Amino acid sequence: MQQLYILFALLLSGSALAQPAQNVILVTLDGVRWQEVFNGADSTLLFDPMYSRDTASARKQFWAATPAERRKKLTPFLWNTIGQQGQLYGNRQTGSRMNVSNPHWFSYPGYNEILSGYADDRIKSNDKIDNPNVTVLEFLNKQPGIAGKVAVFSSWDVIEAAVNEKRTGIPASSANEPTRPVTSADTVLSDMTTLYPREFGDGVRADFLTYFSARQYVKQKQPRVLFLSFDETDDLAHAGRYHDHLRMVQSIDKYLADLWKMIQQMPQYAGKTAILVTTDHGRGHTPKARWKDHGTKTADSYQIWLAAMGPGIRAAGEQAGGPVLFQNQLAATMARLMGFTFTCDHPVGAPINTDQ
Ligand SMILES: [Zn+2]
Repeated sequence: MQQLYILFALLLSGSALAQPAQNVILVTLDGVRWQEVFNGADSTLLFDPMYSRDTASARKQFWAATPAERRKKLTPFLWNTIGQQGQLYGNRQTGSRMNVSNPHWFSYPGYNEILSGYADDRIKSNDKIDNPNVTVLEFLNKQPGIAGKVAVFSSWDVIEAAVNEKRTGIPASSANEPTRPVTSADTVLSDMTTLYPREFGDGVRADFLTYFSARQYVKQKQPRVLFLSFDETDDLAHAGRYHDHLRMVQSIDKYLADLWKMIQQMPQYAGKTAILVTTDHGRGHTPKARWKDHGTKTADSYQIWLAAMGPGIRAAGEQAGGPVLFQNQLAATMARLMGFTFTCDHPVGAPINTDQ
């Protein structure tokens, strides 16, 4: 059965790309819904003082008459840059659907599926257990020219287990673990990471610190494969803080704009880098339909989305219709963008044909 699946995956994997990317950046925003990505702020949450304490300022910051205006307010980089030069999948209102294939609809099963290309029954909790699967990061880290040039920066500490830092040797700067400063800027970052107030405990680093740590690493080490994994959006949603959740989504969008602008000035990256932005799971529809939550008790929280841009990704913008896509296709998509076919000892989802 497994051999058959692999054969099937190979048949579906399509042709190689004419011009693969030299570098790829995978970004995850934890528990961010397709509803916000495609419609911007949701009035059932934005205008409810239980979810947005200062509804006047929340409205001022995120409300506009149409979904098209609201989504540009919330995530201008996704819409003004990726929307123009890349692709966005998952707007169910236009018939573009993307789902997780794991039966859990929470974080670690989702990250495993993104990274290893299949839903593994063994990953069924958020416990920090080392991932037994070969991930696409490990696969790429064994390719000539890429070995030693794969790096992970995550706000959530479980990500270092999801990428199995111990077995693979891929550096994974996760949560608030101390780093060894090299430059004076590193020292400031390191001190800030030690001293700032932890909002969600020691297992979560503030997303802005994760971003600045990663940016520093990109400047210094220029990895060819970067996994940048943010977390606070999910914590803020569980806490019922919709306005703050949107502020975090908007900040991460700004980090991505900043990163993209910076790397377009760097010869190693300019015009040679693909970026994939996605999420580990969705959430409930409205306050009454468990927006704060996700998992199998929360209807439709298996629904996800994807934004993609760079070499090998046609500037087709927002997608409508098309086949249902799955989270398990992201690993092979990432490999294909760099010119590789992701194969390992477990079945993997077929790559998305982003060049068509
Ligand atoms: Zn969660």
